[in-house]
Amino acid sequence: MSDHHDRWIDLRSDTVTQPSAAMRAAMAAAAVGDDVYADDPTVNRLQDFAAELFGFEAALFAPSGTQTNLIALMTHCGRGDEYLVGQEAHTYKYEGGGAAVLGSIQPQPIANQPDGSIAVSDIAAYIKPDDMHFARTRVLALENTIGGRVLPRDYLKAATDFAHAKGLVTHLDGARVCNAAVKQGISLREAVAGFDTVSVCLSKGLGAPVGSVLLGPKAFIEQGKRWRKMLGGGMRQAGVIAAAAHYALEHNVERLAEDHQNAADLSAGLARIEPLKVTTPQTNIFYVEIPDAACAPLREALSRQGIRASIGPHTRLVTHLDVTAADVKTTIAAFEAFFRDWKAQ
Ligand SMILES: *Cc1c(COP(=O)(O)O)cnc(C)c1O
Repeated sequence: MSDHHDRWIDLRSDTVTQPSAAMRAAMAAAAVGDDVYADDPTVNRLQDFAAELFGFEAALFAPSGTQTNLIALMTHCGRGDEYLVGQEAHTYKYEGGGAAVLGSIQPQPIANQPDGSIAVSDIAAYIKPDDMHFARTRVLALENTIGGRVLPRDYLKAATDFAHAKGLVTHLDGARVCNAAVKQGISLREAVAGFDTVSVCLSKGLGAPVGSVLLGPKAFIEQGKRWRKMLGGGMRQAGVIAAAAHYALEHNVERLAEDHQNAADLSAGLARIEPLKVTTPQTNIFYVEIPDAACAPLREALSRQGIRASIGPHTRLVTHLDVTAADVKTTIAAFEAFFRDWKAQ
C-alpha cells in the first residue's frame, strides 16, 4: 500500500520544488514568440538579464543543465579534444558520458580532493603534451558547489589562472553556483570570476520548473546556439518557462541562505542520533551514514509521516524552498522516533 500525503517533505533533491503562485502568475503573463527565430521577448529578456547579472557578454537559455554543459564542451572542443574534469563531477559522472558519446570529446577524469577541488598539481600533471599520440587538452571543467561543498575563492583563482597560462579554456558547471555565492557573501559575478563560460541551473534551489542558462562571450553563445538546435534544445514559445526562470533569478537567490540554515539545523539534529554519522553542510546538501539494516524500515517509517528521502547507507539530504524550519523539526523527530525503537529491538 502506498502512503498518500497532500504535502510531502521531500528531501531527495532541490529539483522537486513547485512553482509558487507568484512564479505561475509571471508565467501566465509572459509575452511569447518563437525562440528559434529569436522572437521570444521573455527568453531574450531572461538571457540579457542573466548575462548582466553574472557579468558575461551573452547568455543562452536551454532546457537542462545537462544540455548547457554539453553545449559548452561541444563548443569549446572539436573531435579528439579533451577536457579535464573531476571524478565526482556531474559532467563526467552523471550526464551519461554525453561529451564522449555525442561530442567525440575525451574526458580526462581526475580525483577530487576532499574539499571538492582538483589539485592544481594534478591539473598540471594531466595536461598532455602536443604530440600526435595524445588527445588535445582543451578545457578545465570545475563544479561549484560540488556535493554541496563550496570551492574556496583562492583555489578558483589559482586553478583558472593556471589553466589559462597553459592555454586552456575554463568552464564552470555552476548548477548551484548561486548557493556558493550566498554562502560566501559575494556577488554572482565574483563567484564566477576566472571562468570563460558558466552553466547555471534555474530548476534547482532557485525553484523554476525547467531550464538552465549558459553564459559566455557573444561568439561562443552564437556557436552554442547551433549545438543547442542540433541537440533538440531549440524551443518555440519558451517564454512561458523563461518567465519562471527570470522570476527565480530575481527573487530566489538571497533566500538560499534559509535553505543553508535549514540544512545546518537538520544535520545538527540528526548528528545527535545514534548510530547516524552526519556531515556538516556548507550549503543545502549533506550526507548521512545509516546502518544497512535500518535503511528499508526507516524509509517506510519516514514515508508514513510524509517524508521522502533517498535513504541508503550513504544518504544525501537536500533542503530547498519547499522545506520549512517546521519540516526540519518534523524530520528530526521522525528520525529520533525511529532510532529509539530500532535500538530497542
Ligand atoms: C543537476 C545538475 C546538472 C544538470 O542539470 P539538469 O537540469 O538536471 O540536466 C549539472 N551539474 C550539476 C552539478 C547538477 O547538480
